[in-house]
Amino acid sequence: MFHNSRERRLKRKRMIIAGLSVAAVLFLAVIFFLWHHQSVPTVTIHIEDVSIYPDEEMPAFQANIEVEESVKKIVLDKRSGYTVRDLIRELKEIYRFECDYDPEVPEDEDGKVKKEYPIRLALAEEIKKRVEKTWKNQVRLEVIEGTLMIKNSLGEWEEDRFRYRDGTYASNKFLYLDDETYYVDEDGRKVTGEQEIWGRKFYFDQNGVLEREEDGIDPSRPMIALTFDDGPGKDTERLLDALEKHGARATFFMVKSNITKYPDTVKRMKEIGCEIGNHTTDHKRLTELAEAEIVSQVETTNAALKSLIGEGATVVRPPYGMVNDLVKSTIKYPLIFWNVDTLDWETRDAGKTVKHTLENVKDGDIVLMHDIYETTIDAAIELIEKLQEAGYQLVTVSEMARARGIELEMGEEYTRLRPVQNTENTEIQKSGTQN
Ligand code: ZN
Repeated sequence: MFHNSRERRLKRKRMIIAGLSVAAVLFLAVIFFLWHHQSVPTVTIHIEDVSIYPDEEMPAFQANIEVEESVKKIVLDKRSGYTVRDLIRELKEIYRFECDYDPEVPEDEDGKVKKEYPIRLALAEEIKKRVEKTWKNQVRLEVIEGTLMIKNSLGEWEEDRFRYRDGTYASNKFLYLDDETYYVDEDGRKVTGEQEIWGRKFYFDQNGVLEREEDGIDPSRPMIALTFDDGPGKDTERLLDALEKHGARATFFMVKSNITKYPDTVKRMKEIGCEIGNHTTDHKRLTELAEAEIVSQVETTNAALKSLIGEGATVVRPPYGMVNDLVKSTIKYPLIFWNVDTLDWETRDAGKTVKHTLENVKDGDIVLMHDIYETTIDAAIELIEKLQEAGYQLVTVSEMARARGIELEMGEEYTRLRPVQNTENTEIQKSGTQN
């Protein structure tokens, strides 16, 4: 009995000692490891950040060496007396930076996407080997990578204000930057949360990025899509002023030459919620063209739009309203026609255009006009007020389709967009006009 319990006590004691020893060895190993690693003197090479606009020349990269005085004195090679100071001098002479940015190859057409590229340090093999192997326990090189930031070519955010490159600030407008949409108010401040802009509700997140918009359209009330072909023209801005003032939208079917001629007008159309339509490159009769030419007539114009506003057209209107099976199967967009032809191009009389429209228009109609004529602009400005007074909501073609629950399908023809119970909404009504 006595013998047994004594043995048990001894046994427990031995186990405690063994456990403590293991813990002590581990503890020492950790201390040694930490001490060893911390004790290797460090030379830090800090590469400076740079930022440029896409069209600017690549700047010379720079790095700063951070090292304590005492470390500089460390002798790395006893025979030659080579010190850390010598190593730093040598490093400075052979600095080579690596960065993947190539200014010759912009990644997006308009340079409006901000990008960042790391700037790395490339050391010569020989010096790398010496630092990493031979002097491994004597000195350590730590490289802090730099960043080359390619700024948005339009300008930069300064807190919640957007500063253009010319030094002015954006105000009262939508900004399309880095694949996001923002809105700056009249004080030039980026807005967040729920906002009412031009009579429509928009929701922005806490960073000011547009999350969703409510088009403000009441599907139960009558609506009309005013459409304008062949522009933009010199007076289109005046029409946009009126649309913006009245919280109205229109759809513009544009030709490439005028898109290129009036780029700011096209941008503004998008900003105020108008729909961007494609009216081909050269206004040719598509029915007389081969498939490849039809594609080119549509896509060349789309490319021009994309580089300008970041996206192509949503709808296409073939010149002269002329289509055949090849055109319909080739064009991968909804084909939008009209059912109210104002004949504005023929009369060139604002009064007649207004009268004809008011006398003929009904809910769901698509009205054809041409914004390249001053008389049409005058008529449209008057029509915006009169149609709204008559209770019509002025919407884009796609908005009207959405409100009517009609999905616009590619290659399909639409002349008006009546409520769905009316089966006439894809009825074709063409006329031999200059559309
Ligand atoms: Zn036309």
